[in-house]
Amino acid sequence: MAAAAAPSVLALKGVGPALAARLEKLGITDLVDLILHAPSRYEDRSRVIPIAAAHSGKVLIEGEVVLTDIVGRRSPILVCQLRDQSGSIELRFFHFSPKLRHRMVIGSRWRCFGEVRTSRYGREMIHPELEPASADLKGILPVYPATTGLSQNTLRRLVCQAFEALEETSKWLPDLPRSCFPDGLYMPLAATLRALHLPQPGSDLKALNEHRHPIQRRLAYEELLAHQLAFQGQSRSRGSGESPRLLLDDELLHRFTDCLPFRLTAAQRRVFAEIRKDLTATRPMGRLLQGDVGSGKTVVAALAALAAWRSGWQSAIMAPTELLAEQHWSTWRDWLMPLGVNVSLLTSRQSGRERQQLFSAVASGLVDVLIGTHALFQKDVHFDRLGLVVVDEQHRFGVDQRMALKSKAQHRVPHYLVMTATPIPRTLAMLRYGDLDVSVIDQLPPGREPVETRVMNEDKRSQLIERLLRWFGKGRQAYWVCTLIDESEVLLAEAAEKTAEVLRKELGNTQVGLVHGRMKAADKEAVMADFKQGKIDLLVATTVIEVGVDVPNAGLMVIENSERLGLAQLHQLRGRVGRGGGKSYCILLYRTPLTETARLRLAYLRDCHDGFALAEKDLELRGPGEVLGTRQSGALRFRMADPVRDRDLVPMVRQSAQWLCQHAPEKIPSLLAFWLGQGSRYVDV
Ligand code: ADP
Ligand code: MG
Repeated sequence: MAAAAAPSVLALKGVGPALAARLEKLGITDLVDLILHAPSRYEDRSRVIPIAAAHSGKVLIEGEVVLTDIVGRRSPILVCQLRDQSGSIELRFFHFSPKLRHRMVIGSRWRCFGEVRTSRYGREMIHPELEPASADLKGILPVYPATTGLSQNTLRRLVCQAFEALEETSKWLPDLPRSCFPDGLYMPLAATLRALHLPQPGSDLKALNEHRHPIQRRLAYEELLAHQLAFQGQSRSRGSGESPRLLLDDELLHRFTDCLPFRLTAAQRRVFAEIRKDLTATRPMGRLLQGDVGSGKTVVAALAALAAWRSGWQSAIMAPTELLAEQHWSTWRDWLMPLGVNVSLLTSRQSGRERQQLFSAVASGLVDVLIGTHALFQKDVHFDRLGLVVVDEQHRFGVDQRMALKSKAQHRVPHYLVMTATPIPRTLAMLRYGDLDVSVIDQLPPGREPVETRVMNEDKRSQLIERLLRWFGKGRQAYWVCTLIDESEVLLAEAAEKTAEVLRKELGNTQVGLVHGRMKAADKEAVMADFKQGKIDLLVATTVIEVGVDVPNAGLMVIENSERLGLAQLHQLRGRVGRGGGKSYCILLYRTPLTETARLRLAYLRDCHDGFALAEKDLELRGPGEVLGTRQSGALRFRMADPVRDRDLVPMVRQSAQWLCQHAPEKIPSLLAFWLGQGSRYVDV
């Protein structure tokens, strides 16, 4: 149910392909984008201050030119003295046209806007914006995020035009009832947007510049609401049906845990108790299981699958990569097969016939637990009695894909468990998984030491190579992670190949293996198997190993160009080596020059081993789209809101979302189309 699409910016007067291309750089393609292009700050052009009071910052002054001069020969500067009743100031123009020079004559009166600074000649204003003193005062002017070749004036003009066009047809504007908003926050949308672009004279400029003005809060609220609803769309169907009761008796529970080579931590037991309680109800479980890398989420999920099996229901386990699906398969098989549970794997390597056999086993209920990647969503996968869906997400899945799997349930709505390895800051978790309950494994299994982390300049590479040689001499293994951000998989694969080649030369007798995303699954698998068996000493890998396999003997990891990755991702990668087997090390290589933010980030990672704290920091430094890995899909890309700044709104947004679903669901499609764009794939209304 798509709402009306807003016309392209090309519909505006004076906008041709060249200008449209520049606008597109700012993410603006249609008129709605234009009116949602929020000013980053504002300038007060509503008050003229006495020249004597102009000491610093950007101000508006007005006066008469009493002196003009051109100084300097090589690069002449036009200097004018401007005076009002209170005092005078110098205006300096480093570039000036003859026309300007002729206009700035003694006795002419000007209004000037610019930054005041104090030099050894006294107070001065460099290249002020000029207008005749007789012109109307402009009020508070918005300053937009801009790009080369696109001036503030052009943007202001286009926004005004977009508003005029909007006037004619208000059908793009969602129209939410007042009851959707917390007390005092509501204002009609069109008026609010207008006030955003052209604030009333006398508006609180400080609040506006801090993005805390009621106008901005009101818009942020509606935007957060749209995102919340978009994420919720996928789960609405879940709430409507009944789920099977999945019961696990203590006897079987103990038979399972007695066979494990470890004892469950207190956190694992607490979290499983929460899940177990959910599973006994016919209300579908929707639970997000958060836990740092290595905290032991898998075994908790396996317990849930055991409960399903005991009660005669199937489970589907979805992993983000083939490699990880295979790892799950081998672990789950070891754990569950001895109890009589049939665990099967769906992979792209199965032949057509094997596949058909598997599908019919799944459809007839012979398979109790089916593990796979998104291949589980294929149309021909039909479960007999699907009672539980586990998604090991690691930020790789879109919400829409999860939907598809859920709908395979023939008789009942399955219970639903999502596991995320990178802890998501609370505010974002609430938005993204608005309706899910959250369980947290906040404890690592005993005996895990934090990974000793070092930040190292690339130019110390020869020292690093020596260290690696000593490490391999002790019979240990290591990872070398290649990164390229914002580059194609092809380039990344090439970079990894080159790196492996160079390292082979540098490391002499060392066995160097390589895995990257462009390899065939079977080849990747073979390399990983060799690594696991110790036939490879150093595994050069692209970031695919982020979700890769467990190799306890590999206790050292080098991450190249670490400054380019986010904290959460680096922490994930580092988690690969902190898996028992004694002390482990992570070396973060960087290249100079390092930006201040990057330096801070790496230092923070070196000293902090708490995934939650790191994720919060990441959010602060890089923004929500990056943190949740939704950058590509456009979800959680905010124009007005900032989930950190506006975090206090989030709990209320959840309530409003519920209210809207119950009382005015027909308002939702246009709300989502307006804020998330026409292509918002998350929409399911
Ligand atoms: P993650 O939460 O990152 O998915 P895993 O479930 O893969 O972590 O567990 C990481 C490793 O820790 C696995 O090798 C697993 O067998 C082991 N493990 C899980 N729980 C415990 C525990 N209570 N004590 C010791 N080791 C455990
Ligand atoms: Mg895991």
